[in-house]
This record gives sequence, structure tokens and C-alpha cells, in this order.
Amino acid sequence: YLLQLYQPLNVFGFVYRGVKEALNEMERMFELLSVNQEVQDAPDARPLVCAGGEVRFDGVRFAYDPRRPILQGLDFTVPAGHTVAVVGPTGAGKSTLSRLLYRFYDTTQGRILIDGQDVRAVTQESLRAAIGIVPQDTVLFNDTIRYNIAYGWPGADQAELDRVAEAAQIATFIRGLPDGWDTMVGERGLKLSGGEKQRVAIARTLLKNPPILILDEATSALDTHTEREIQAALRDAARGRTTLVIAHRLSTVVDADEIIVMDAGRIVERGSHAVLLARGGAYAALWARQQEATLAGP
Ligand code: ATP
Repeated sequence: YLLQLYQPLNVFGFVYRGVKEALNEMERMFELLSVNQEVQDAPDARPLVCAGGEVRFDGVRFAYDPRRPILQGLDFTVPAGHTVAVVGPTGAGKSTLSRLLYRFYDTTQGRILIDGQDVRAVTQESLRAAIGIVPQDTVLFNDTIRYNIAYGWPGADQAELDRVAEAAQIATFIRGLPDGWDTMVGERGLKLSGGEKQRVAIARTLLKNPPILILDEATSALDTHTEREIQAALRDAARGRTTLVIAHRLSTVVDADEIIVMDAGRIVERGSHAVLLARGGAYAALWARQQEATLAGP
């Protein structure tokens, strides 16, 4: 009885989730592909000259809607080749930082500098060539795993593909697929798990080989084993690059050179993991909450 009643609802829920997921994916595609009309190259824009890739946020204020300020004056520097992780409660404005650095939007006040050059003064093409993004959720194409990893770099040879797959910890997975590199993935092929998709994104980014890296960590919890593999892959990817980690799970922040704790568009704490834990403030509280959640299981 109850079961009979429950099942159609369940089927409906399943279909609904499918549609909703597809819509979310489309939104993300738009976010990735759409060119914000307001952001255009300055008439005298020059190509970015990226030496070490130092990233500096200088008095950055930002609002999507002028009535609702999101970032309220941020100052921080990611020295060339170093890693800075940004943590904080949901809605604090963490992902907004990466959108501003990639120049999907311009700051309302203040500047963002890469090796001393204002991102508004350089061509968008050169800016985006210098920055690799591993997004929260990667959009896969209905094509082979080879196409998906080599996306943007069709000329990549097999040796290069093997190298990046190895570094992204997805080589063993690919070797185990029925058709290896030629296995179809995506909606109409093999469905990859969240962790596998993230590793595809890491491999893709390694192929691009950008001096600056933005890691927008997935919100969803992964099992401990996957989490470790991804952490290792991310650590590898970050080596030698200026890296901004937008951390939703705190798993990748422990080794960061500096951790920035944001709340409501402001920096409320900063320092290394050890220093912030010892201080017993906002970061320590976030950390404790996360440890509890991990122990309780997903
Ligand atoms: P989370 O950890 O949940 O991903 P976050 O710290 O990354 O959160 P952001 O995505 O930077 O938060 O969003 C900060 C605020 O800006 C949120 O309140 C959000 O609602 C708002 N916001 C984000 N994108 C837009 C947009 N395109 N238009 C208007 N408001 C937006």
C-alpha cells in the first residue's frame, strides 16, 4: 500500500532531479561560455606578461547588484608559486573571487593585479590563457574520455595525455575502461562520478599548463579514499603555480601557505592552519564542525 503510493512519487522525484540536474548543467555552461557584455577589452589592452604569476587583490569591493554589496574591501596577495586558500561559510563570497580574477565581472572598487598588471588593462584572451580553473563541477561532453581531457588542446599527443592522466590520478581508471581512452562518457555514455569528473578537469588543466590556478573545490562530500586521491592530484597540479583554492571542505587547505577566512565579504582571519587552529577563532570553529561531520559520516 504505502509502498505503492511511494513508488510513483519516487519515480517522479527521479525524473525531476534529472531535469533539474540538466538545467543546472546548462546554467554552468552559460556561466563558463557566456561573455559578460559589460566586460570588454580596453581599447589599448595589451597581452598579459606573466612572469611568476603573483596575484594581488587590492582594496577589492564588489556587488552583483549595487544594492547588495558582496565583497567589502579585500586585500591579499598570492605570491608567485604559492598557494592561498579561501574558506568561510556559504555565501561569504569565495567563488566570487575566482569570477573576478578570471574577469567574468569587474570590481566595483579596487584592483586585481597579476604581476603588477591590472586585469582590466590586459586582453581577456591573454588573461584567460594564463589562468586554469578546476571548477566545482565539470561539464562533460558526449564524446570520448580522450576528447574530454584534450578539450581545447586537440593536438595533444598520447604521451602528454598519459602524463597528465597520471598526474591527475585518473590513468588507472582510464586503463580499466572497456575502450580505454576511446570510451564514450557524458550523458549518453559512461557516467563519471563527481570525483572522476574532478580528475578529468585536473587533467585538462594540467594540459593547459597555466601559471595561475584556481581550484574551486566541490561542495559535496567524497569518500575518504577519493578525497585522498583528489588531494594528491591537486597538490601535484598546484606545484610551481600560483594557486587560489576556494575551499568548501577544508581538506585541501591544511598545506596552504596562507588561509584566508572570509565572512560576509570580509577577511576575518588569516594565517597558516596551525596558527589559526591555535587561535581558536572562526577557522578553528569551522574545522571542528567539519571534523564532527566527517566522523558522523556522509
Ligand atoms: P559557497 O560556499 O556556497 O559556494 P561562496 O562563498 O562561494 O559560497 P559566492 O558564490 O561567492 O559565495 O556568492 C556570494 C554571494 O553572492 C551569495 O550571497 C550569492 O547569492 C551572491 N551571488 C552569486 N552570484 C550571483 C549573481 N550572478 N548575481 C547575483 N548575486 C550573486
